[in-house]
Amino acid sequence: MKNTGTEKRLFKTRYLTIFIGMLLFLPPFAVLPQTAGEVNLCGAACPRMFFILSPAGVLAGLGNNMQAMWFGASLVGLILLTTFFWGRLWCSHFCPIGGTTELVSHAIPERLKTGFSFIHAPAFRYCYLLVFVAGALIGIGSIACKLCNFRVIPFLAGSPFVPSYRTYLLSSVGLAGIATVSLTGFFARGGRAYCNLLCPVGALDSIVNYLGGKIGFTRKVRTDLAKCSGCGSCINECMVWALERTRNGKIKRDQASCMSCRECIKACPREAIRYGRR
Ligand code: SF4
Ligand code: SF4
Repeated sequence: MKNTGTEKRLFKTRYLTIFIGMLLFLPPFAVLPQTAGEVNLCGAACPRMFFILSPAGVLAGLGNNMQAMWFGASLVGLILLTTFFWGRLWCSHFCPIGGTTELVSHAIPERLKTGFSFIHAPAFRYCYLLVFVAGALIGIGSIACKLCNFRVIPFLAGSPFVPSYRTYLLSSVGLAGIATVSLTGFFARGGRAYCNLLCPVGALDSIVNYLGGKIGFTRKVRTDLAKCSGCGSCINECMVWALERTRNGKIKRDQASCMSCRECIKACPREAIRYGRR
């Protein structure tokens, strides 16, 4: 099935939609978080901490957290729903955090960047998700919060306007957060290592993308091995190292890791990768 006109337009305008996401979610405007009374993506707008296990009990803790972080919880619900039917469009086309690290990384010379493809991303991602979800029970929950790119990027974006953000970023915790985001974002090949390895929302999203991909009518990035010549042109385009060449010379794509950015579709000379129904 060929891509529709709307899909082709969405594909072409990926950086534009990321920029719109930055305007909507990041300081100084932070239009959407302000509907929850926040000026960044913490507090009621936090999309991550509501699903950690609470000493108060699983359901009671989840209920309390969802109430306190209603904006973040609603956003994640919406993200997972769209991912199930249309792939990880939030991550690739809208996320102001992963989008920022990806855009900044494009401006940094390749020789200064680190590649993380030696890490088996799914294994690392789900182990980290387990630690993140259970972290509060074993007393290390706040570490993930302090190194969170959903905290560091909004603080960086708002720092020219808000003196307290500058103070925070220059503290030891702030500098540790900047170092984490720099290494796994700005100075990572593709700019998305944090997204691929350390983002708990991305980890949930990848599971939903995988499950949705099993259903024929959902729209996903899909591979047609009969057309693949094994040229490998697509592999280097993938910012989350979801593509690899198998022993039979064909390409293998990890649906869970795939962020639906569709850069590989652009690179493939044989139309062996496409976006659409099965
Ligand atoms: S497999 Fe293709 S669509 Fe998926 S993240 Fe990699 S380059 Fe983007
Ligand atoms: S670019 Fe296309 S033909 Fe070449 S390896 Fe990738 S999927 Fe196969």
